[in-house]
Amino acid sequence: MAHALQRWTADKSRELYGIREWGAGYFGISDSGELLVTPEPGRFDKAVSIPEVIAGIQERGLDMPVLLRIENILDTQITLINESFRSAMSGLGFKGSYLGAYPIKVNQQHQVVEAVTRHGKKYHHGLEAGSKAELVAAMGMLRDTEAVLVCNGYKDEEFIDLGLHATQLGFTCILVVEMPGELPLIIERSKAKKVKPILGVRVKLSAQANGLWSESGGDRSIFGLNATQIIDVIDRLKEADMLDCLQLLHYHLGSQIPNIREIRNAVAEASRVYAGLVGEGANMRYLDLGGGLAVDYDGTQTNFMSSRNYTLDEYCVDVVEGVMTVLDEQGVDHPVIVTESGRAVVAYYSMLLFNVLDAARFEPDPLPEVLPDDTNIHIRHLFETLQSLNLRNIQECFNDILYYRDEVRQAFSHGKITFRERAQGENVFWETIRRIATLSRDLPSLPHELEGIGQALSDIYYCNFSVFQSLPDAWAIGQLFPIMPVHRLDERPTREGILADITCDCDGKIDRFIDRQGVKRTMPLHELKETDEYYLGAFLVGAYQETLGDLHNLLGDTNVVTIRVRDNGEFDFVSELEGDTVEDILSYVEYDTKHLLTRFRETAENAVRDGRITAGQRRAILQAYKTGLQGYTYFER
Ligand SMILES: *Cc1c(COP(=O)(O)O)cnc(C)c1O
Repeated sequence: MAHALQRWTADKSRELYGIREWGAGYFGISDSGELLVTPEPGRFDKAVSIPEVIAGIQERGLDMPVLLRIENILDTQITLINESFRSAMSGLGFKGSYLGAYPIKVNQQHQVVEAVTRHGKKYHHGLEAGSKAELVAAMGMLRDTEAVLVCNGYKDEEFIDLGLHATQLGFTCILVVEMPGELPLIIERSKAKKVKPILGVRVKLSAQANGLWSESGGDRSIFGLNATQIIDVIDRLKEADMLDCLQLLHYHLGSQIPNIREIRNAVAEASRVYAGLVGEGANMRYLDLGGGLAVDYDGTQTNFMSSRNYTLDEYCVDVVEGVMTVLDEQGVDHPVIVTESGRAVVAYYSMLLFNVLDAARFEPDPLPEVLPDDTNIHIRHLFETLQSLNLRNIQECFNDILYYRDEVRQAFSHGKITFRERAQGENVFWETIRRIATLSRDLPSLPHELEGIGQALSDIYYCNFSVFQSLPDAWAIGQLFPIMPVHRLDERPTREGILADITCDCDGKIDRFIDRQGVKRTMPLHELKETDEYYLGAFLVGAYQETLGDLHNLLGDTNVVTIRVRDNGEFDFVSELEGDTVEDILSYVEYDTKHLLTRFRETAENAVRDGRITAGQRRAILQAYKTGLQGYTYFER
């Protein structure tokens, strides 16, 4: 018990929640226990307190959950990637250059693409479009003609024509041939429009990558051309007198590649292909490595799927060196290296903030000292097992209570005991489990069967958000995100719990958390207070989560607030987007709210006619219905 008496400090929270490991210098904790965020890694003199931002959000009348964006973190990430490539290139004497292209699919929100193009201008950071809609967005947003506009994805005539128009306008628009069937159409449309396009080919590499997201690389990848098909492209371009249009080689191993070895292998193989294309007479200029630059979500710096075993600088050096090694050997000029990093650019800049609505605890009712004489025999067995429990017979007691609980359940099924007696039996069972859990803390190692015991007894914190809407990858592919309280971090978190959302779906929960040793099944939380809200944040959610989210249980888009941190550490609210209202959501699923209201008026009028309510009550009910239509889809206090 001695440790419980020691004072808890912000430093202990830093350690416990691993914030230094996953926070990349953007997140810290103040001595008063508030979570801080800074747009300049490590500069906590310029940090903003998240609870202070929450207070500001609430003063402005917006409810939780809120997706909070720190605009300048996006600027910082773009700067870091570009500067890191620059310094790797100058350090190694690379004679080409670097251009980034932000893949719109990673977060298509207007605000995000706008911010990327605005800040990216300094580095001619371009865009990557994988569909017509994305290309239309890109052509509207991009102004910088020195930046690349890479068109991937399966292209129909309209897509190709749009790309050719972009070229006419002066954009460095590159049409990447992903499928053999696209080329004849591209040749035909270019000739028809008399536009000389810049073309790329996407190669299927044999280098495989492991990871949750990475099946798009390798022989089995859906997109891309194999060697024979690329040779065929060259021959067709020659025939059409367009071989000089082929200037880019593209590949994409998949997203979140945790292992640098796979990245290096792919770079080496792709560089050989690049040299091969030069040898074939193509006018090669760009080597585009696609995405894959991973984010260290769990902070372990390992090749675990939610981490990466390399730093940004190592990534850049390895890529540049890998390209140089092959091309120098082949006597080929250094290219413009393009990467389409999305996740690494946007992940850090958004966090989801939400409040906790309630908590459920597994705490059995107190048991009597002795059981009444008429107690059922099965319950008596359970009780005696509990009384005999000690450090040496944990395993045996555990087996026994499982057995006796089954007896209780069977007796109930056969009508031999009452429902109340069954509840009594379950209560003794859980009290025994609780005591086993307490005792087993003093064991050097836990018997195998008892491993899940902590989780079985953990609290459930009911949180005001939807996993399906806001953290879809946590549900769909088991991705881990760092999650922690944003205040009270100078207090000891005395509870262990999992998080449940408000969708009332059994999958609507988070019960896997980041951990230095892999994955944790519960997370440390503070006791809820009667009077104060308790706020948690899910971090590094800027990539992929926003548009992959769905309307499960008709919980809609959350409010989105963007702040910009000033040089002196103060901050401005730069924009707020109100989340979906009930009316918005209903219209997505094809309800006409006018029609709904008309029907509801009739229902209410019928109730008046039947004498259930008065006309005055009808008016109040209709008002509540209308307010409901305009309300937020989440829990409002
Ligand atoms: C998804 C995708 C990307 C982005 O990958 P990240 O790992 O998020 O950087 C880049 N290029 C292509 C072709 C993609 O499909």
